[in-house]
Parts: sequence; structure tokens; C-alpha cells
Amino acid sequence: MKDLSLLVRSVPASVTLAVNDKAKALQRAGQDIIALAGGDPDFATPPHIVKAAFNAIQNGATHYPAPMKGIMPLLEAIAEKMEHDNAIHCDPQTDIVVTPGGKWALFLALSALINPGDEVLYLEPVWVSYPPMIKLAGGQPVAVSLSAEDNYRITEETLRQKITPYTKALMITTPSNPTGRVLTWEELKAITKVAIEKDLYVIADEIYEKLIFDDRQHISIGSMPGMGERTLTINGLSKAYAMTGWRLGWLAGPTPMMKLAAKMNSQTVSSAANFTMHAAVAALTGPQDSVEEMRLAYQVRRDFMVDALNEIPGISCRSVEGAFYLFPSFPGSSKNSLELTDTLLDRAGIAGTPGIAFGSSGEGHVRFSIATAMSELERAVERLAKVAHELL
Ligand code: PMP
Ligand code: GLU
Repeated sequence: MKDLSLLVRSVPASVTLAVNDKAKALQRAGQDIIALAGGDPDFATPPHIVKAAFNAIQNGATHYPAPMKGIMPLLEAIAEKMEHDNAIHCDPQTDIVVTPGGKWALFLALSALINPGDEVLYLEPVWVSYPPMIKLAGGQPVAVSLSAEDNYRITEETLRQKITPYTKALMITTPSNPTGRVLTWEELKAITKVAIEKDLYVIADEIYEKLIFDDRQHISIGSMPGMGERTLTINGLSKAYAMTGWRLGWLAGPTPMMKLAAKMNSQTVSSAANFTMHAAVAALTGPQDSVEEMRLAYQVRRDFMVDALNEIPGISCRSVEGAFYLFPSFPGSSKNSLELTDTLLDRAGIAGTPGIAFGSSGEGHVRFSIATAMSELERAVERLAKVAHELL
């Protein structure tokens, strides 16, 4: 038989999804696995959102939505949210496309921008899907490696070192998965300076926007001077509203790119699910208390887990500023991150994600998700303390 796609064969499958699947399969098979692998909130979707979906189904929102790129009340709710929370002005008629999950919004953004050979920069450690998505959209992924010692800070100099005549765009994530960094105004300013000077587009992934700890503030790069015309912003309901299974995200940006994104949607997925869009209206326009309750719960878990991990010999864990992952390292260990996660699974029944999945600057680390009940985190800490000597 003839060869299957070289392009698709050239990229790995998502490691985060694979470890998640594996942990859940082991649990189904009766093993006592503590799943700290996946970025899926342990909370239930707030009831008023579930009710809105039920009502929508009963009222016939089970056909194609119209417009396909998002029902008007949702496009309007997103535009209002972006104006209010992000200081980004979007015309709901032309500047927003609703997608089945934020992941597809990322792919739409790349598809709208990339020509063959274009280089797309991303900050590493990076969420596993960026480099493969860049390749699948026809571009060349280029890592801008950041170091744990410098708290994964991005500077103008570091960025400039990776710019070539082929550089087309930069992807940023704030708060970051897996490092938990929230980009500061200074860092964003440095990015805008380079982006404007070098005429780069910026893809801003703000999916963890609502999950920021302490008194830090989220700043949307698309609101900064000179950036509106070159920024595509991604967001969605998966993380803030505990709605990963509903598959609802969006892409927002300047009209010319959004026209291409809508065209891509029309020839591929068509749309997000109609009744999910109705639920999304309820999520964005209804009470936000549950979002804040979940954020506070993650913050309590972070404080507990960071302290507890640092007390275990051989584990070093920075505190995180946002999102719901910890990214500890194992100083003094001779094992690489794949060996570390294997040992954790085999010897302690703990499923984590190997740091190498987030790029070579993630090596030596393991990602633990704290979107996991406190009782599970406590059990994980007990087990970790017992097997710590085996991680050396
Ligand atoms: N961006 C980042 C950084 C993520 O971690 C995720 C999690 N899956 C997504 C985007 C997309 O999430 P979803 O497709 O569930 O909206
Ligand atoms: N974003 C989550 C994670 O990093 C969910 C899985 C995925 O889509 O990669 O674990």
C-alpha cells in the first residue's frame, strides 16, 4: 500500500492526552492510581450551565447553529467579556469565531497565518501541542528556551536571538501550561517591541486567564498599543468553568484573519455544538461565583502541594502564579523525566506527565496537575515521600 501522510507521521500524538488515557484505563482496570497527569478540573460544571444546555436541547438547539461561526448571543457575550476583562474591542459580527475547544482555535489561528516555511516561535517549556500544530499548519516550530533558574522570564534579548527573516509569529501562553508563569507587563512590553519592529503576529493563548493566584493581574497582549492589528487571542470555557468535555473555545482578532478562520471552520468542523453554545452564553453571562471558588481551591492546593513537595528530599518545586499545574524538578536524580514518571507510576501509582513532553527545557521535571481533589493530593504526597529514594 502507498505511504500514509508524511506530515502527520512526523509529529507525535499528544502526550498529555495519552498519559491521561493511560491513568484512567489503569483506574478502570481496578488499580489504585492517583491521576495527576491531565489538565481536567475535578469540579463538576456549574449547575446553571448544565441547565442551560438541557433547556437548549429541549428547545431544539440540536441542529446546525446559525450563524455557524457562533450564535449571536454567544458572539455578543464573548465580545462583551473581551471588552470588560481584556480591554480588547471585537466586533461580534466579524471578529470572533467559536470553536470546538480552544485547541481548534489555536489551529485556526496558525492556519490563518502560516505559509510554507514560515517560522513560528514559542516559549519553552511549552504546552505539548504547539510544535506539532505549527508543523501540521505548514510552519516551522522554533523554541525560545526559558530557564527555571530565571523563573522562565522572557526578555527582549532572548527573543531577538531566535528571529530570522522567516519568523512570522510568536505563540504565548499566560498563565503558562506547564510552568504556571503569568507574563508581567515588562515581559509583554518586550514582546510587543520586538513584534512591532519585526512585523510579527502574536497568538495569545489565554485559556487559563481566570486561574491566577495571589494578587497578580492578567494582561492581554492584544490590548497593548500597536498590538490589536497583529494579535489573535484564544480562550475557552474548559478550564475556568470546568467544561473540558463540552468543547467550547473561541478565536478573536482582526477581521481579515477571522475571515480565514471562519472559512477554515466552514470546510472542516463546521461549528461547535449548538447546545454547547447556549450553555456558553449561560457561563459567560451568569453568576461567576463558581469560577472564583474553583480558583481559590486551586490556590489552597498549590500552597499545600508546593510546601509538601519541597519537604521531600530530592524534590524541588517552585510556586506557580497561575493555571493548575506544578512543575517540580528532581535535583540529584540520575533519571530523565520519562524514567521518573515510569518509576512514579510503577512504584507509587502516581501518574504525572514527563517534562520532556514540554520540550527539552522541560527535561528533569515532571508535571503534576492540581486539578485533583485535595484528598488525592494528600495521598500523592504520602506515597511520594515513601518512594523518594527510588527517584534518585
Ligand atoms: N491551551 C493550553 C495551554 C492548554 O493547556 C489547553 C488544554 N487542553 C488548551 C489550550 C485547549 O483546551 P481546550 O481545547 O480544552 O479548550
Ligand atoms: N491541556 C490539558 C493538559 O495539558 C488537557 C489535555 C490536552 O488537551 O493536552 O493536560
